[in-house]
Amino acid sequence: MAEIRGVGIGLGVAQGPVARMSEPLPAPSDAPSTLSADEETARVKEAVGAVARELEARGAQAGGAAQDVLEAQAMMAEDPTLEDEIATRLAAGKTSEFAVFDAFASFRDTLTAMGGYLGERAADLDDVAQRVIAHLRGVPAPGVPDPGYPFVLVAKDLAPADTALLDLDKVLALVTTDGGPTSHTAILAREKAIVAVVGALGATTLADGDTVIVDAAAGVVTTDPTADELERAQTRAASRASAASAPLTPGALADGTPVPLLANLGKPEGAAEAVALGAEGVGLFRTEFLFLSASQAPTVEQQRESYTQLLAAFPGKKVVVRVLDAGADKPLAFLNDAHEENPALGLRGIRALRASEDILREQLTALAQADAATDADLWVMAPMVATVEESVYFTDLARDYGVKTAGVMIEVPSSALLADRILSYSDFASIGTNDLTQYTLAADRLLGSVAAFQDPWHPAVLRLIREVGDAGRIHGKPVGICGEAAADPLLAVVLVGLGATSLSMAPTALADVRATLLQHSIDDARVIAAAALEASGAASARDAARAAAAENSTTPAA
Ligand code: PEP
Ligand code: MG
Repeated sequence: MAEIRGVGIGLGVAQGPVARMSEPLPAPSDAPSTLSADEETARVKEAVGAVARELEARGAQAGGAAQDVLEAQAMMAEDPTLEDEIATRLAAGKTSEFAVFDAFASFRDTLTAMGGYLGERAADLDDVAQRVIAHLRGVPAPGVPDPGYPFVLVAKDLAPADTALLDLDKVLALVTTDGGPTSHTAILAREKAIVAVVGALGATTLADGDTVIVDAAAGVVTTDPTADELERAQTRAASRASAASAPLTPGALADGTPVPLLANLGKPEGAAEAVALGAEGVGLFRTEFLFLSASQAPTVEQQRESYTQLLAAFPGKKVVVRVLDAGADKPLAFLNDAHEENPALGLRGIRALRASEDILREQLTALAQADAATDADLWVMAPMVATVEESVYFTDLARDYGVKTAGVMIEVPSSALLADRILSYSDFASIGTNDLTQYTLAADRLLGSVAAFQDPWHPAVLRLIREVGDAGRIHGKPVGICGEAAADPLLAVVLVGLGATSLSMAPTALADVRATLLQHSIDDARVIAAAALEASGAASARDAARAAAAENSTTPAA
């Protein structure tokens, strides 16, 4: 067997034979057209119109997010800038096929150069161009294969038109070589709960008929799997299916030790889904959404409205709100517009708020007002705290505004190492494993070239978490986890074994974590955590925990 790595979407696992997406049409030649420019213009107009209408029809059939995407694509096809670009080429005597190909390609380059979200829209443009050229040639547009049996679809990147109408009875999983976590393949895979690994460069080597296991939780595609691996994947898939339909009981270990399962939310609108999936409250509400698209801070009234909406969705429940975490991956010009060589090590999180204390004070005012207007149990915490002094500063300030439970995020190794001192003063700690891993391994979490270091299973990260867990126990203070690590079911058990008292995650991860916790007692969790801590690296920690979990469970491990 061999492993191909990419970015997994969700936690699912699936297996089956590969079917590759058909290859793109060959590039048209730029030989002069034998038709007049007017005749070519009429051909393009007809083809573009037909493709736009077909995309709209597919959208109407698919509904939901897919419809929005396909309608946007249809508009793209008829974009006036593109029409002008095509017309210029037709006036120069080119064929319709070439003019469409060349004009779309130059627009694509512009989008790609912009990077980020717009860069990822470039694939959508390619798809529209291919459809128009196929129409002009009178051949079928390249698309999803139909081998006649269920298959793992492998493609460069899927166009929205392809994903929208995927036959979910036939497509077992998606693997793309291009595309990141915000590509349409990823967005639609999430919406339709399709097992997917995107950005798996090595998948170019996969051939039709190869059997693979697609493990989204690990972000790995296993080629030539052994019978044993296939069986394990099968068991995991079955256990996920039963976890999804299990009752929404409060999070607990097999011996009844409660481990509240909370939701990570970025907008108050996410509350209903979180409640429906059994979230017992909110472990991390990221307030950045209110600020990121704004050129200045939202007013106290605007903030109060949003926080009230959030808190009102969780009557009697704990809701942990994080004050603004700007900087590095979440830049905010009005807080800090200085150029920084290393923004992850710069004026960010609580440091930036302290430098613009009025913004922090307004946020605390709005939170206190929302708290007074609702019945939720509001906790407030500061991001990126690096020193004991910062934690005292924030805790005092929050208490001045009437916040009853004030705590800090532990995301920097220095604060993990001094958690005993921090928790002697603050009311709680919440460990942000994403940043804690980034800073412990000195690997920028946004940089693909060092992505392999961004693994919270690393025993150095686990040791720091243990420090915080121990400090929480000594002072009798809660220690939550709100980084992505909490959504990995086995790692969740390890985290509890290290002293975490609650786990917060994307609501879609709750069912798997709930089911896995129920397989182990607190003693089991401690033994499993000890096994992981003994390892020298992330992969061996995971293996050691897996082996320990198989031996220390109340019910058979999945
Ligand atoms: C973290 O760093 O783990 C965390 C939860 O915060 P964010 O991902 O928003 O930086
Ligand atoms: Mg963070």
